Amino acid sequence: MKTLKIAIQKSGRLNEKSVELLKNCGLSFENYKSSLISTVSNFPLEILFLRDDDIPEYVQDGIADLGIVGENVISETEVDVSYLQKLGFGKCTLKLAVQNNSDIQNINDLNGKAIATSYPVILKKFLDKNNIQADIRTISGSVEISPGLGLSDAIFDIVSTGGTLKSNGLKPFADVLSSEAVLIGRKGEESNPLIIELIQRIQSVLRAKETKYVVLNAESKNLDKIVKLLPGVKSPTVVPLAEEGWVAVHTVIPERDFWEKISLLKSAGAQGIVVMPIEKIIL
Ligand code: ATP
Ligand code: ZN
Repeated sequence: MKTLKIAIQKSGRLNEKSVELLKNCGLSFENYKSSLISTVSNFPLEILFLRDDDIPEYVQDGIADLGIVGENVISETEVDVSYLQKLGFGKCTLKLAVQNNSDIQNINDLNGKAIATSYPVILKKFLDKNNIQADIRTISGSVEISPGLGLSDAIFDIVSTGGTLKSNGLKPFADVLSSEAVLIGRKGEESNPLIIELIQRIQSVLRAKETKYVVLNAESKNLDKIVKLLPGVKSPTVVPLAEEGWVAVHTVIPERDFWEKISLLKSAGAQGIVVMPIEKIIL
């Protein structure tokens, strides 16, 4: 079968997490900082290390079969690729922001104003949709300093924590697009068995990240109450302890309501609760 190629960011915010995800999928490869291509030894896959901006086009044109890239970059490059899987990292939002003392309060106030951005395509679409005529000034970096220099009245840029905006005396006033890293594929290749296998591996890693493995001890008389609190993959595993009248309960708990569940379990009589990370969940 033809070796697949996946394009990931060479260096930058998505590189480390992309490499980690592929390694967690059981793929072995060398990750030399200097090389542009790496061969996976235990799966027919090659990894191409590229600038993130080039990834959508490489996938669209078939130079790579798959890619990991931010949704923001895909929208900006307007390519025709298929979205295969959201990956849960590289989360950020494209926002409009102005200086703290600006009289621009809402998007309609942007009429006739200059907006600096590295995302002219996404911004233009947003302004057109809202019937706003503004002057888009495309700059490639350090967009956040442009209002302070008098180069624009507002900016349109990526925000994750908001720290960069704040330190430049800017405040966000409208969210336009939220983004995270996604796995993209070339159109028409979705039924390739190697791609399906890789997506399944990725999904099992993502599922495992969202859950914890929990083991707890309880008196048998409290078992019913405790089991009712546990959703688990199926029902929990219950094992008798050496001490008469006691059991150990093994289960998985979603990360998102973890602390709430733990305190409910404690009040229902759970003791000696041990929590472990899960590597993979294969359904
Ligand atoms: P390259 O050298 O590959 O072109 P870059 O400088 O364009 O890299 P990075 O800053 O490494 O890109 O960001 C890569 C992606 O990470 C962004 O396109 C976006 O999807 C995501 N991201 C998450 N948080 C942020 C953030 N605070 N600022 C910028 N990008 C972020
Ligand atoms: Zn880039």
